[in-house]
Order: sequence, then C-alpha cells, then structure tokens
Amino acid sequence: MNACNAASQPVATIPAFHFDNSFARELPGFFVARRPAIVPAPRLLYFNRTLADELALDLGSLDDQAKAAVFAGNVVPEGAEPLAQAYAGHQFGGFSPQLGDGRALLLGEVIDRHGHRRDIAFKGSGRTPFARGGDGKAAVGPMLREVLVSESMHALGIPTTRALAVAATGEDVYRERVLPGAVLTRVAASHIRVGTFQFFAARGDVESVRKLAAYTIWRHDPALADADEPFLELLRNVAERQAALIAQWMNVGFIHGVMNTDNMAISGETIDYGPCAFMEAYDPAAVFSSIDLHGRYAFANQPNIAGWNLARFAEALLPVLSEDPERAIASATDVLAAFPERYRRHLLRGQRMKLGLRRGDAGDDSSDAALVDDWLALLHGASVDFTLAWRRLADAAAGDEAPLRALFADPRTLDSWLARWRERCAAEDGDATIESTTSGLARAETMRTVNPIIIARNHRVEEALAAASDDADLGPFERLLEAISSPYRETSAVATYAEPAPAAVTACYRTFCGT
Ligand code: AMP
Ligand code: MG
Repeated sequence: MNACNAASQPVATIPAFHFDNSFARELPGFFVARRPAIVPAPRLLYFNRTLADELALDLGSLDDQAKAAVFAGNVVPEGAEPLAQAYAGHQFGGFSPQLGDGRALLLGEVIDRHGHRRDIAFKGSGRTPFARGGDGKAAVGPMLREVLVSESMHALGIPTTRALAVAATGEDVYRERVLPGAVLTRVAASHIRVGTFQFFAARGDVESVRKLAAYTIWRHDPALADADEPFLELLRNVAERQAALIAQWMNVGFIHGVMNTDNMAISGETIDYGPCAFMEAYDPAAVFSSIDLHGRYAFANQPNIAGWNLARFAEALLPVLSEDPERAIASATDVLAAFPERYRRHLLRGQRMKLGLRRGDAGDDSSDAALVDDWLALLHGASVDFTLAWRRLADAAAGDEAPLRALFADPRTLDSWLARWRERCAAEDGDATIESTTSGLARAETMRTVNPIIIARNHRVEEALAAASDDADLGPFERLLEAISSPYRETSAVATYAEPAPAAVTACYRTFCGT
C-alpha cells in the first residue's frame, strides 16, 4: 500500500515546518503516500497566526500569496511526506471495512512549543486511493465552518483539532450546486481513530493492531509503556478521555452530528466537524444533521454512542489484550461497564462548577444530580436557550434574577428551584471542609468563567459562511471568529453574537455533511 504516485510538482524548499514524521517512519503499510492536487488559483482565506507560532512554524518571510500556495497544496514544504491514512469505521452503526482518507492528507508532524507532537494535515486536497466515488475536494463554506466551530470549541477549553489555514483553490466544486473550492489545514494531536484499529482488526491482522497500539501508547500514553497490561490500560485511558470529552460537549450543548467510529479520535480530541451544531433551546432530543434520520446522534444520545464506539475499540483490541480470549473479554468488559459512571462523574463535576459550586467533587451526588436535572427540565419545558440560561444564572448569583426570569414565559416556574439552588450554595458556604468564600459577586464571577456567553450560534455561522462563499466577503466570518475566541467575556461589542436565533429559524435548522 505504501506506493508513492509520481510527484506532479517539485518539492519546494520551504523549510518552514520542522517535520518529524513518526507515522510515516514507523507504520509502513498503514497509509498510501500521495501528493496534494495542484489547484489553479490559491488564495488565503484564513490563517491562524497564534497557532502557527505555537507550532514553531517559520512562515514570517512568506507573504499571503506564498502561504496560499503552501496551504492549497501547490507547494509541498521541505520535509513533508504527504500520506493518506487507512481506516475503517462504523457509520450510523453499519461497518465499512475500508474508508481511509479519501480527501485528506497528513503532511507530517511537528513538535510544538510545549513539546507536544502535532499532526499537520490537509482536508480537500484531492482524491486518494481511498476516495471511492468522491471527488477529493472540499468547499469554502464547510471548511470555514470547521474553523469557526473548532476554534469555538478550543476557546471553550474543549479538546479539539485546530484550524491552521484555509486556502481557496479557485476551482469549482460540484455539490447540490456549484461551490468555490478550498483546502483546510487541520492540526491534531494525531489522526488515529477507533476506525484505524478496526481497519486491521477486520482483516484479522493482529500484528498490525499490536503495532498500532504500541505506536499509540508511545504517542499518547507513554506512561503505559512499562505497564503489566499496556493495551488494557490504553483502552482505559481512551475511555477516560472520551468520558471527559463528551461531558464537556454536554455542558456546552455541542452536538457532533456524526459520531461514527472513524470520527472518534484516540487522543480524546473532538474531530471531524461536519454537520455539528450548538444547541439553542434546550432539548435532549435535538438533532440537526440532515443525514441523521433516526436521531442516532441526538444530543442526549452522545454518551451512549461514545460507549458504543468504545465497545468497537475494545473489540478491535481483544486479540492483543490477552492470549486467553475469555480473559480479554472479561477485562475489556470491566472497562466498558465502568464507562457510564466515569462519564457521569465528569458531567456532574462540570455541572457543579456551572451551578457555582466551587468544588466539583464535593456534595451529595444524587441530590446535586437531581438539582441539575430539575434545572434542565425547566429549560426544556420552557424551551429556554441553554447557553443564556446558565449565563443568567450567574447574574442571579450576583443578586439580579431579572435577566434569568426574562428568559422564561412564566418565570414563577423558577421560584422553587431557585430557592433550592440558593440553599445548596449557602450549604457550601457553610461547609467547613471547603475554603470559605465569597460573596454572591465572587460566585457569579467564577460562574462566568465556566458558563460562556458566546458560542458559534448556527444562524451567525450560516450568515458568515454565506457571505464568504457567495459574496467573497470575509467580514462577517472574521468578526464572528473574533467574538467566539473570547467566549466568556461579555461586552456590548459582542452582544449581538450572544443572541439566539429566532425560534422559527432554529426549528428548521439542518446541518449538512459538506462532503
Ligand atoms: P466524513 O463523513 O467526512 O467523516 O468522511 C467519511 C469518509 O468519506 C472518509 O473516508 C472521507 O475521506 C471520505 N470522503 C468524504 N468526502 C469525500 C470527498 N469529497 N472525496 C473523497 N472522499 C471523501
Ligand atoms: Mg471523518
């Protein structure tokens, strides 16, 4: 599989990236080497200078034109070894033994300023042997959408792949209509997915599963190298990262939309921003994706699906967990059985912080969980905006209940819950085991560091993408990006980005995969 197609352009000597390509070096047979397609008219639409600096890239001497040539794929920088990774995956529950990077290429890896190894990869850079019927391309709108949502997630403190650049290609892309083409440069802790393991497991290639697991430990869990059962510990760590990640999604109202096993990263980062969206009015059954006909990936179903995906990961690992198949199954089952509780712990910790309780791990679990559930039931019953409700609860902590009450058609439904919440806060203040506080104002300030005011709201995202894609006007995109980059700061300048869409817009809102 590791055959290189003939280079169609010279490798430019742009020593801007200090590549160290462990995947290409260590895992021959796990990918196909490929060069990005040449495109007619590269133009830089987005470049993340802060991230480039974090990655220690030397792009200072390149003007926008030169950067566009690099980030559209026309100039392959020195040291890059572009490759398409093989992977399989369960898509909406059905198994596809071969997916792979159909339109993506890993350029290589760099070590960032914190010493972390990061993948730098293209999306939309042309067909690969995994493209099946696809054209290998991507359109401006969906790639800028990935920038907005992934950078919003990053600003919210949620593990995620990042967006380094988007270059328009000057090429038409044919979807339901003709769209301008683009290439996204994505940065990830790695692109190893549950589906990467499944690819080899499905072929009965146990040695490749073992090799991949060992590589993954080297890359993401080096502390496990000397463990008695390193692969079982890897499964445990992946479960822990997913539990933490999904809890964070749930606490900001994020709906991934396509949680297939090929879209679950072993690193614990959110990956693959397709038909994702932030929920507005709280509704556990919310689903926006046009292709999720049965609500498999509905908001409240995400923790279950994460558990299901982990079971597929465990299955792929079984042959390397133990020579005794029964023992392998028993130990994997233990890890999987512990996942729901692991998740609930992370969720409740986050929810306590959102409620203004200073210790995420202190208190009576069932009564605190009931307090949150009753709060969410109030939001659901009155179709209240999830993000604003939490944020206005901070105002209530500071002594001003009016903004919160204004979100409810009948604010009296809040009365008894607010009384319980105040009692719970007072009990914490009276708890001698917790460092003493704090006024309501201080509680409110802390709550405002975990309850965002700005998320990438669907109508704002659509408005920005339409301007960029249809009118080549990047103004709305840039202003929105700036607003979502400081999600906890409430100023009059960003007030309009805090407002929910009109209910009628949300009711009809559908997201598309953008492939
Ligand atoms: P996704 O839905 O983006 O997770 O992609 C699922 C699979 O389809 C992956 O193997 C992708 O590489 C592939 N794919 C998606 N869009 C295209 C496209 N336009 N051309 C080729 N392959 C694609
Ligand atoms: Mg994918």
